[in-house]
Amino acid sequence: KPIVLSGCQPSGQLSIGNYIGALRQWVKMQDTHDCRFMLVDLHAITVRQEPEKLREATLDGLALYMACGLDPEKSVIFVQSHVPEHAQLAWVLNCYTQMGELNRMTQFKDKSDRHANNINAGLFTYPALMAADILLYQANEVPVGNDQKQHLELARDVATRFNNIYGDVFTIPDPFIPEVGARVMSLQDPTKKMSKSDENANNFIGLLEDPKKITKKLKRAVTDSDEQARIYFDTEEKPGVSNLLSILSAATGRAIADLVPEYEDKMYGHLKGDTADAVVAMLEPIQQSYNELRHDRAYLDQVMAKGAEAASAHAAETLRKVYDVIGFVPRP
Ligand code: ATP
Ligand code: MG
Repeated sequence: KPIVLSGCQPSGQLSIGNYIGALRQWVKMQDTHDCRFMLVDLHAITVRQEPEKLREATLDGLALYMACGLDPEKSVIFVQSHVPEHAQLAWVLNCYTQMGELNRMTQFKDKSDRHANNINAGLFTYPALMAADILLYQANEVPVGNDQKQHLELARDVATRFNNIYGDVFTIPDPFIPEVGARVMSLQDPTKKMSKSDENANNFIGLLEDPKKITKKLKRAVTDSDEQARIYFDTEEKPGVSNLLSILSAATGRAIADLVPEYEDKMYGHLKGDTADAVVAMLEPIQQSYNELRHDRAYLDQVMAKGAEAASAHAAETLRKVYDVIGFVPRP
């Protein structure tokens, strides 16, 4: 079975962007792939986190992973900081990644604009840690949203460079980006992507939000103010309406091309109402299952322990290989 690796940062509550762009694909891959899914807390601290919130978000994320359908019997589910090899390989890969390459990363530009008072070295070298995450498990496929495509290409370049020097150490990973929902946009500014760490909570919908709040946020979503309030799909001319159509499509499983004719002579309000209903319906079973799982700390601990152990075994094997080829003397 092809090996799959992916993760979300516990940098806030997981959003419908994370679910539609990533998690939902992960769930489908569990039967056909050998899957590993993590909560990447090492990545989360590239932006300042409050300790108690980070801890909560990690446990919430773990419960949400399972509530969305990840099954610890089928997949390895773990917390990144529980497997020290991630930080260890990241250091090595930092030494094989060029400043010029990192300088071209658009996520670094976006996040350093948003966090101008904390442009730390970890934020800059984030892609080297992400490469380590993937390469440690010799992953064949990495299911991510569109925003991670550039980082994945860098991981491929670094792995290829390393292999060219030392022989076939790493598997070169392929991105797996969904056709629908690869880039869910912000509700108030539909020209930028929805992010769970957005300082304006009206820009995103969290997976645990209450139905009333979800409906309110979608009703207030920015639509496009051209002359005629027509509903059609065009991400350039109608970014707000197109985003709502994409979300509606993802939540109902119906193609955008099938949905559009139904809204031909309807108003924005109809589209917003229907999208809200569909999102609420999509999240209802997830929230229900989350509520059952989240307070069972013993079970969550059991899942984390089992996941870390399985992940560590594989990761240690790759790290050993890497240390050996670069010329480190093994610890006697
Ligand atoms: P942050 O704002 O802290 O970066 P985020 O919402 O961007 O949070 P991440 O944890 O960085 O979420 O990303 C987790 C996964 O979700 C990645 O695979 C990423 O590509 C995907 N993802 C994130 N945002 C979106 C989005 N708006 N649409 C589709 N997929 C997304
Ligand atoms: Mg992100």
